[in-house]
Amino acid sequence: MTDTYKHRGLRTKLAREVESKGIKDKRILEAIRKIPRHLFMDSGFLEFAYQDKPFPIGSGQTISQPYTVAFQTELLEVEKGNKVLEVGTGSGYQACVLMELRATVYSIERQKKLYQKVQKFLPSIGYNVKVFYGDGYKGLPAFAPFDRILVTAGAEEIPHQLLEQLRPGGIMVVPVGGQGTQNMKKIMKTEDGKITEEDHGYFRFVPLLGNTADE
Ligand code: SAM
Repeated sequence: MTDTYKHRGLRTKLAREVESKGIKDKRILEAIRKIPRHLFMDSGFLEFAYQDKPFPIGSGQTISQPYTVAFQTELLEVEKGNKVLEVGTGSGYQACVLMELRATVYSIERQKKLYQKVQKFLPSIGYNVKVFYGDGYKGLPAFAPFDRILVTAGAEEIPHQLLEQLRPGGIMVVPVGGQGTQNMKKIMKTEDGKITEEDHGYFRFVPLLGNTADE
């Protein structure tokens, strides 16, 4: 599948829409203008790729709404060269936004089919994300600490194993709540290891699933 002039036009419109909803970071808006979201979608949803909506990507999962991707990314305050852990690779779109901010991105996915798809797809469009198959609740202790941690599924509570893998001075963004809506939390670890948190409103995510990863 190709990226056409028409797709680029639709992306410019989408970036403007996301900006009009309050996203200010120009780097994020530029990433939305640049990344061909239609390539991340199942063929049945291609014509909707540039609507500001989530869509199914198979295995009962979704590609997040572009505004939500932008909102979480803005809260994360990614700096060039940051080592970022994403929990919930899904389609890989969010990971590419983080790559566009010049981060080194580690991403974990628990659904094997999605992991296998993304592992081939992302390098094919030029994004060198380090993708892992496993339970994101446990993080990636072998690669910790991380400057930033982003959870893209709804957690029942703040995942403490992830907090341990956050470097002092780091930021974690995680939607926390039950099956319905989740409160977007920005959690900051001070240089002396103290934890502070802020609430940033309600969102609706698929749940962060615990225990064993699917086979
Ligand atoms: N970031 C994704 C994107 O850009 O397409 C969207 C993520 S989707 C809203 C949430 C993802 O989290 C799903 O792909 C789901 O399989 C994954 N997930 C759920 N529980 C998980 C866990 N414990 N560890 C890793 N991934 C998990």
